[in-house]
Amino acid sequence: MKISEIVKNNEITLSCEMFPPKAGTALTEVKTVVEEIAKLSPAYMSVTYGAGGGTRKTTVDVADEIQNVRGITALAHLTCVSCNREKAREVLSDLKSKGIENVLALRGDAPIGCEPEKDFLHASDLTKEIKAFGDFCVGGACYPEGHPEASSLDADIENLKYKIDAGCEFLTTQMFFENHVLYAYLLKMLKAGINVPVFAGIMPVTSVKQIDRICSLSGTNVPERFKRIADRFAHDPEAMKQAGIAYATEQIIDLIANGVNNIHIYTMNKPDTARKIFENLSSIIKTKK
Ligand code: FAD
Repeated sequence: MKISEIVKNNEITLSCEMFPPKAGTALTEVKTVVEEIAKLSPAYMSVTYGAGGGTRKTTVDVADEIQNVRGITALAHLTCVSCNREKAREVLSDLKSKGIENVLALRGDAPIGCEPEKDFLHASDLTKEIKAFGDFCVGGACYPEGHPEASSLDADIENLKYKIDAGCEFLTTQMFFENHVLYAYLLKMLKAGINVPVFAGIMPVTSVKQIDRICSLSGTNVPERFKRIADRFAHDPEAMKQAGIAYATEQIIDLIANGVNNIHIYTMNKPDTARKIFENLSSIIKTKK
């Protein structure tokens, strides 16, 4: 099913992101992750794509497993920084042959030492290519705190319009830890004339190591409130995990209370974390079993 159809009824949806195995490693473990997350009946499951192109095959394989073995709608990510037109078309053909109808079109970040390909400079160029290829529902990424390379949040939102004009039908946000940041961003997007459905990306932070990675990679602000939680429970992994899940759950409940109906959980391939969040929301979100 296309994601544009899933969001049509404006019901609350909970979806999950996972990543494929690293190049050269077996699919077996990741198949178990797919199986466990699929048991939660998410609205759809997305699978990331390595910006260097190393997961070209495994991203498609995992999307196939999600949709054709486990019966959950799959969203395959595709990045263009290391991908020319020919390679992009190969991936799209593979996806089409497996009945995958949803693609998240991304630029990606060039791995250190790699020269970016020139066919697509921005995600909007890839979006155009996918739409021209035929019958895919295409989504894109957006950044409530602004993309780190953008000169300002307003400039980033102006650039976001290229994606929408190219045919992007929904957006998934970068993680954020303060809901007021998302609310202000959604208002700015509406004022700029962007009104496609937005999936709020929620990252349950279950280890202190994750926080440092988040700050350095995404530029997402980690608020004092969360830093205090991390300081208090850093020495106790189980307590930290419980606190991280509670924080994410609370964020989601507040989002839903404020009319944000589509929530995307960055599971980091941890079905147990995803399961606990789904359980915490079991009376709030009724998934189809
Ligand atoms: P773009 O939309 O191309 O934007 C990149 C920068 O260029 C921004 O600063 C933007 O303002 C600017 N820009 C955009 N269009 C124009 C234009 N026409 N003219 C001038 N400037 C422009 N990375 C992976 O490697 N694999 C993944 O699977 C993956 N999944 C992700 C999923 C989500 C939901 C998110 C939020 C990010 C994901 N990323 C992934 C990371 C992403 O690839 C990086 O954040 C990357 O730096 C930007 O990708 P983008 O698609 O947003 O790029």
